[in-house]
Amino acid sequence: MSEASIFTKIMNGDIPADILYEDDDCICIKDIQPQAPTHLLLIPRKPIARLVEASEEDKLLLGQLMLKVGDIAKQLGVDEAFRVVINNGAGAGQTVFHLHLHILANKKFDEGSLGF
Ligand code: 5GP
Repeated sequence: MSEASIFTKIMNGDIPADILYEDDDCICIKDIQPQAPTHLLLIPRKPIARLVEASEEDKLLLGQLMLKVGDIAKQLGVDEAFRVVINNGAGAGQTVFHLHLHILANKKFDEGSLGF
């Protein structure tokens, strides 16, 4: 079995993190190297390495994550302007191989631009 990801270690309490929210399915933490004034990571407890490794059986989980993003954005008062990013694969900038959604807010986003 492959080694636990850094996010699994955070979920297990082996590595500290600023935890904003957690439930049986996911955890939301502050990114250690924020790319925006608000930069959170929403991470399923299930260690799916990359989005492409998700399968039919993850349909409910993936939907729950999307809904949770909205809840968190509302709770933080950033629901009028935030961005969700999933990097899939090293070529796309993925560095932690445990699926996670970046939630970025409180930053000026250029209209019609993804910033790359
Ligand atoms: P990726 O590049 O895989 O899409 O995103 C991984 C993210 O995890 C990066 O934004 C990085 O700053 C963050 N990260 C890596 N290690 C840790 C850590 O130990 N704690 C926290 N809170 N974030 C981390």
